[in-house]
Amino acid sequence: YTKKYGKNNYTIYSEELDQKTAYKLILERDLKLAITNQELTLHYQPIIDLKTEEVRAMEALIRWNHPELGLVPPDSFIPISEESGQIVAIGKWVLYEACAQNKAWQNSGFPSIKICVNISTIQLQHPNFIQTVQQVLEDTGLEARWLELEVTESILMEETKTLKDSLIKLKALGISLSIDDFGTGYTSLSYLRQFSFDRVKIDRSFVSDIAGDLSGKAITSTIISLAHKLDMQVIAEGIEDEVQLSFLKDENCDEGQGYYFSRPLPAELHNWFKVPGDNKTVK
Ligand code: C2E
Ligand code: MG
Ligand code: MG
Ligand code: MG
Repeated sequence: YTKKYGKNNYTIYSEELDQKTAYKLILERDLKLAITNQELTLHYQPIIDLKTEEVRAMEALIRWNHPELGLVPPDSFIPISEESGQIVAIGKWVLYEACAQNKAWQNSGFPSIKICVNISTIQLQHPNFIQTVQQVLEDTGLEARWLELEVTESILMEETKTLKDSLIKLKALGISLSIDDFGTGYTSLSYLRQFSFDRVKIDRSFVSDIAGDLSGKAITSTIISLAHKLDMQVIAEGIEDEVQLSFLKDENCDEGQGYYFSRPLPAELHNWFKVPGDNKTVK
């Protein structure tokens, strides 16, 4: 890398800069061309109804297929794109791509499911966001009820009227809203209810604690029962084994997602619709 990239905008001396910084600089520079060069791609992870084990939704998860670095995970480049503002264009691309894919699944005769799209705070705060969502639905022909936007708790920290208005407008379009990674921030569930969120996704860290200490169990079951009392559905993230799954089922968790069912996969590799008489939903 040092040789190849050193001649361009940045002079990278691998001995002096730690590798992490060098990596970040490369990503920062190359991200500018990622959309144009069609290097971004979406993987999809099924969200399963824990009662029937049928697929209810797919979450779209972005990956960057970098020509030299290979598949770059979102945690490495989404923050960079947020700093630079590129997230607005990237997010628009994701929204379009995900809605078009869901419409394509419907057109090929599959039962209708929701497509869940992660939205960054920066996108949500952009003045054209609602218009973009509307335009994407119109262009792809996807009905609003098959789209769900996932936002993290951090957006609610900035309690602005504009934000609340945006959420209300999005709901008015007929799309649903969920709170991602719930439990990692400082938001109370009753506060979420005010913002008209339909669903809460329990953060993976609590699910992975289920088998371990008592607090993992206590926290997950409290979130589930409180959310239900407030009329919100609950999705558990990061289910990896039978122990976690049966606990969540016992606690009446509505839906689940995780490697136990399926890893995120490219659309064409999914073979996930329930075949009558077959008790395997995904694989
Ligand atoms: P997230 O929305 O909470 O997505 C769940 C993450 O957990 C995904 O990581 C998924 O691959 C991973 N995961 C799912 N099941 C399991 C499991 O059983 N075990 C373990 N260990 N991990 C599991 P991924 O794909 O690397 O995405 C990371 C984060 O990047 C996402 O967290 C989301 O916050 C963000 N992200 C992904 N795609 C987009 C996007 O299109 N736009 C924006 N703004 N953010 C995105
Ligand atoms: Mg998510
Ligand atoms: Mg999450
Ligand atoms: Mg996460």
